[in-house]
Amino acid sequence: SDHHLDYPISPAHMDWSSHYPAFLDPDTSKTTLGGARKLLKDVEVVDIGCGFGGLLVGLAPLLPETLMVGMEIRISVLEYVTSRIHALRMQQQKLKNAAIAGTGATSQDSNNTVEQPAIEDEVGNTTAVVPGNYENISGIRANTMKFLPNFFDQHQLSKIFVCFPDPHFKARKHKARIISESLNAEYAYALRPGGLMYTITDVEEYHHWVLRHFEYQSEEEKDRGGVKDLWERLTDEELAADPCVHVMSVETEESKKVSRNNGNKYVAVFRRKADPEWS
Ligand code: SAM
Repeated sequence: SDHHLDYPISPAHMDWSSHYPAFLDPDTSKTTLGGARKLLKDVEVVDIGCGFGGLLVGLAPLLPETLMVGMEIRISVLEYVTSRIHALRMQQQKLKNAAIAGTGATSQDSNNTVEQPAIEDEVGNTTAVVPGNYENISGIRANTMKFLPNFFDQHQLSKIFVCFPDPHFKARKHKARIISESLNAEYAYALRPGGLMYTITDVEEYHHWVLRHFEYQSEEEKDRGGVKDLWERLTDEELAADPCVHVMSVETEESKKVSRNNGNKYVAVFRRKADPEWS
């Protein structure tokens, strides 16, 4: 339910300061419309229904300078994500301190060329310092079906992820799906031209639902035109070249569950095209 859901009255009122303290603008005279400290950059990647945060944690070192947020409606799940990210940041800080003091272990990077600070836990797993130190990811509790435009301005986002959305199998529940005509218009509003909308599901029927909601199904429909003009699907070659697709396919908690059960994963990514010129 939406009871006690906090949301800003506009993106300009949103207080991100506690989410990304490493990215605070040092100029304290700059404030949001609500009077909070500003960040040096905007949040530009959103994971809708982030669950336990596996995607964010996987993407964090890949896009260390990009601010990313997971949005999750369940309180307990969001609390888990928040403490998970906090623990990762603390661990990174500990590693860096150990490296500065010269007491840390080291690990080799993937090319086996550079030694990086690392730390060994009780069971002997070695963890290395990762780019970005997880300072660039955070989670907020939100119902994205209702309040997305409260958080993000037009063209603010470069990527939106919808990973393994709740399938709502029954036809009378389809209106609860997180991909729909009206929500896709909101995603198109928040994404900048060239931005990407990532989807993955293990439910084949939902995959077709996704395709139907982003692509014209007939010449007649295309001639009529509409919001689908704003989307173009990425080719298999483009998907293979995008490391985010790989992370999305293997790092979310749901994707791991599907792998364990030898299930199928259906991926579709759509590029937000430029706004049409109305003449
Ligand atoms: N994306 C994660 C993954 O791949 O592991 C979680 C997938 S889980 C099946 C779907 C998640 O979406 C749940 O955690 C659910 O609470 C969340 N969710 C559903 N509706 C939502 C909404 N309107 N706003 C935010 N989160 C929502």
